[in-house]
Amino acid sequence: MTLRTRLTLWYAAIMAVGLFFYGAAVYSILVYSMTQQVDEMLSRTADDIRQTFRRDVRGVSFSALALDMTARIYAQVWDAEGKMVARNVPMLDDPLDPDALRGTQASLDTVRLQGTPLRVLTSPLITTPEGELVGYLQLASSLQTVETARRLVLTVLVVGGMLAVGFAALIGWTTAATALRPLDQVTQTALQITRADDLSRRIPLRGPPRDEVGRLIAAFNETLERLERVFETQRRFMADVSHELRTPLTVIRGNMDLIRRTGEADAESLEAVVSEVDRMTRLVQDILLLAQAESGKLPLGRELVEFDTLMLEVFQQAKLLSQGRQEVRLGQEDQARVMGDRDRLKQVLLNLVSNAVAYTPAGGVVTMSLACLGGWARCTISDTGPGIPKDELPHIFERFYRVDRARRRSAAGGAGLGLSIAYWIVRMHEGRIEVVSEEGRGTTFSVWLPLAVDGPAETKSA
Ligand code: ADP
Repeated sequence: MTLRTRLTLWYAAIMAVGLFFYGAAVYSILVYSMTQQVDEMLSRTADDIRQTFRRDVRGVSFSALALDMTARIYAQVWDAEGKMVARNVPMLDDPLDPDALRGTQASLDTVRLQGTPLRVLTSPLITTPEGELVGYLQLASSLQTVETARRLVLTVLVVGGMLAVGFAALIGWTTAATALRPLDQVTQTALQITRADDLSRRIPLRGPPRDEVGRLIAAFNETLERLERVFETQRRFMADVSHELRTPLTVIRGNMDLIRRTGEADAESLEAVVSEVDRMTRLVQDILLLAQAESGKLPLGRELVEFDTLMLEVFQQAKLLSQGRQEVRLGQEDQARVMGDRDRLKQVLLNLVSNAVAYTPAGGVVTMSLACLGGWARCTISDTGPGIPKDELPHIFERFYRVDRARRRSAAGGAGLGLSIAYWIVRMHEGRIEVVSEEGRGTTFSVWLPLAVDGPAETKSA
């Protein structure tokens, strides 16, 4: 069953239940109050008549009584033995309500006489002070008017109710259609997107953006956007990986061809093959590491790391790396201890420092320093290299991203994964990496890591 049908049925059902109770109340009040009026009229008439009786009922005649005949009241007087004493309509031989002609309490009943509903009041006549029952007065009034009114009201309520429920269902059906139309459009567009395999399409927002449908469309579009980004990243990733693997494979292939042609494996060719295999191994390791880090599955040690000692080790390695071409300096060096994986943190600093060395021309300066600020350890690696253009800065932590592809490839052979790896490792340590760079002046990377709970010791100035 569609949502539209269900909504309509609910709407009609609620309307029907409401109308039923309303109709039942109107009907009951009407029947009750009309019967009540008849009862009151009968009681009043009985009171009037009773006052005219003396000690017994013998010789009573209705012609002598001032009966309001316009009210169409049938009257009978019976003596205590059950014999008719008087009546106001000649044909009325039988008691109007035979069952009531006993007992000493007045009673009201509805009976049918020749198909006509009658309201009958039976009033015992007790005229002596001793309370002797001398007979009964029975008065009846036709309930035909009440019956007709009751039937009419019932018909009006039933027919009117059915019409109202039908009308409500119609309104519900059209309202549901109007309300659900945008949802239908969402479904159609979603299906078209799936069929056309085109994630760049968006569902147009026609109604108010803040209502339920508007928010659904916004959420759906957001999901599409995300999906599109994910697919795009994946596509780019595949392209980048193939591109990165193609070069070493070509080199290997070339050298192997050479070896096959000449029939001898010269040292140079073998060296080239080994170096390219190493490079591919590094690349595959990096990709694996990144994939693990991005999915949060990178196994990380959690030990207390002397971050200052770690930085010193990296500083030594940086000096070796630079081979004296650049000056590698140590700036401020606070003592700092952080929690985490020592090898991975060292990899972060090595990646940053090797970039600094690789991109800083001979004669430049690379400075490493460590400071404790608040609850954080901040390790900065600055260089006096060419800097990174402003519009490239937001992208440098993306995988395979290189600022100047041609220059980078020949210079150090990096695949553009170093910064992504650093970013993810730091992120997994609940820290962050910041970069400040000015073209022509240099670049500063800062790694912020939360200090281990027992905090920093003292400050050693460089
Ligand atoms: P790569 O393997 O190419 O070094 P990274 O992810 O480490 O990859 O760096 C991404 C890009 O950021 C580099 O290609 C380079 O263009 C730029 N970059 C990184 N560090 C520096 C730096 N210290 N100075 C200038 N450019 C840098």
